[in-house]
Formats: sequence, structure tokens, C-alpha cells
Amino acid sequence: MKVGILGAGQLGRMLAIAGHPLNHQFGFLGNSHNEPSSLLGCMFVNDNESLVDFADVITFENENIDVNDVNEVIKTVTVYPGVESLFTTQHRGREKDLFDQLNIPCAPYKMVNSEQDLKQAVKAIGLPAILKTATDGYDGKGQFLIHNVNQITEAWSSMKEKESILEGFVNFKRELSLIAVRDTNNNHKYYPLVENTHHNGILRLTIAPAQSIELEVQKTAEQYMQTLLDKMNHIGILTIELFETENGLIANEMAPRVHNSGHWSIEGANTSQFENHVRAITNMPLGDTTPTHPFCAMINIIGEIGNINTALNISNAHLHLYDKKERANRKLGHINITANSQDELNDSIKKLSDFLPK
Ligand code: ATP
Ligand code: MG
Repeated sequence: MKVGILGAGQLGRMLAIAGHPLNHQFGFLGNSHNEPSSLLGCMFVNDNESLVDFADVITFENENIDVNDVNEVIKTVTVYPGVESLFTTQHRGREKDLFDQLNIPCAPYKMVNSEQDLKQAVKAIGLPAILKTATDGYDGKGQFLIHNVNQITEAWSSMKEKESILEGFVNFKRELSLIAVRDTNNNHKYYPLVENTHHNGILRLTIAPAQSIELEVQKTAEQYMQTLLDKMNHIGILTIELFETENGLIANEMAPRVHNSGHWSIEGANTSQFENHVRAITNMPLGDTTPTHPFCAMINIIGEIGNINTALNISNAHLHLYDKKERANRKLGHINITANSQDELNDSIKKLSDFLPK
């Protein structure tokens, strides 16, 4: 099939790399001919119409796209995961409303459109709390952690008049995420919960599976996921970011797409998140999500490429670069590690410690 992707970044690139062996062809909607996906299929530079002509099915690699554009596209060609998933997940308020509606625990929240709203929200929720823009945030951008009431004016002005959401601060033990896939016949498959470590709002390390997760906790996360997938009639990969707390799991946010915390699955699972997304949207049977090794990890390469030979010289490390230029805080690639023991995993991570924040 011909798969069209709205976007041409590293996620599109890895979807195409996974889809080529299945005999699919790819087309990308990008802003230039020099994007991470450029050499993996047809590039359509700011040309929606040609992408629509090309594609048998369309998907997206970024939820910050205009729903009106997608509504136009679906008049001609199917778009998966679907408009409902896109509309819900691109707005933190709608996302949290859905969590509430489905009885999925999340932090207390209030929508904020003025400094006055923020004062009232702080009264209702208490401090500390995090103010976030309702739309367009990523890598922790557009967020303000409020510790005391004297910061309210500064916090609101940092939102630049954008609709925002105030969330109660969650005292979490660990950050986890769950990735799952649903096909057009309502089959679901789940990857194991993974543990994510962020630095300055950017994901740096994923441990997969997360260690010491009780079966019950995995089952609870899967149950939340299933209700979300079914409610939104989502086709393809969906990711939920979760906080692990003393009182169980708390949902943070969702992404209607393949996710950085699932990159380990390229070598670490029988079928990667990328291949499963492609299979789901092209009506192929879903692949097995079981890990290939009991201990896997993913280290992001951020800002500068660094000494990649270190990774190339480790037998159980797998390098993935995205063909992007070095720039501060930019995701340039990642290294996957597959290991048969905790010691082997720790040892490999240690050898790659130059890629992690000090
Ligand atoms: P990304 O694109 O990296 O997923 P984002 O910009 O969409 O991030 P969030 O995931 O909502 O934003 O927040 C970024 C990080 O801030 C979280 O991973 C977590 O570490 C912290 N954080 C967010 N919300 C809360 C909260 N309510 N309580 C405590 N910490 C939080
Ligand atoms: Mg997040």
C-alpha cells in the first residue's frame, strides 16, 4: 500500500524503515527536501493535495496539526488513528476530561484563560501546581511550576495569553509509559510498561520493561488503555504517559502515535511499535509485542552526536541516527541496548554514560 505521513521527521523515517520490508511505499508531507524522512519515499513539500493523490491511507507523526486540514483530507482518503484521537490528544483539557469520563485517575486540573482564572484555580487545586499551555507543548516547553502565590502573575504572563491548564503537582515515584496498538478488527496488543527518565523536560533514558512492575499494575494500565482506544475508535499506536505513585497509577498525557519511549522496541520487541503502527493502518495482522530480551534500554542522543563509535563497539548496542544537524536540545538519534541480565544492562548503560546527562 501507499502510506502517506503528515510530517517528515524521525518518527516518519522510522515508520518507513519498518514498513519497507512489508512492501509498503511511503510519501511525506514536509517543509523542505532536507528532513529526516526525505530519502525514504516521496517528499511532498507543503503540497497536501499531491500527498492525498499519492496515498491509499494517511497517518500523522505529530498531534499538533490542524484538525480542519485532516477533516479535508478524510473526504478523499482514510486517516488513521482518526480525527477523534487527534482532536482529543492535541488539547490537554479535552484529554483530561476524557480521563475523568472513563474513570482514569489524573491530577486535579482547571482550565485557565486569565490571571483571575489562575488565582481561582490555585485556590481550588493548591500548590505546588504546574501551569501548562493547553496545546502545542512538547519536551516540557510551555510549562511553569508554581510554588507560591507570588509567582501567579509571572506564571500567567509566561503563557502569553494562551489557553492554559493548571494541574496539581503529582508526587511520583517513577514515570512510566504504556504503548499499545489497535487494528480495524478491534484487536489490541500491549507492550510492557517502561520507565522513563527526563532531564530538563526531555526524555533521556527508557528502561524496558520497567523493573519490579506487579502484574496487577500492568493489567490496570492495559485496562485504562483499552477503554481509551475503544472510546476514541483509535487505529494504530497510542501512548499513555503515567506517574507511578504510592496510590497507584495517575495518567499524565497521551500521544496518538509512535512515541520516543517506544524506540527500544526496534530491537527489543518481536515487533516494533513502528511496524505495528504500519500493520494496523494497512489492515495487516498485528505483530507480537513480547520483548526479545528481558532487559532493554534506550538512550536518546540529544544536541550533539558525540562519540558514536562507543556505541558501535558494544555488541548489544544498536545505533539509530535521524540525519539531523546538531542543535541544543534536539533529538538527533538514540541507542538501543538489549541484554540478558541486569548486570549486562547496567554495564552497557555505564559504557554509554557520555550520552546521558551528568
Ligand atoms: P513530552 O513532550 O516530553 O511528553 P510535554 O511537554 O508534553 O512533554 P508533560 O509530559 O505534560 O509535557 O510534562 C513534562 C514533564 O513534566 C513530565 O514528564 C513530568 O516529569 C513533569 N510533570 C508534568 N506534569 C506534572 C505533574 N502534574 N506533576 C508532577 N510532574 C509533572
Ligand atoms: Mg509528556
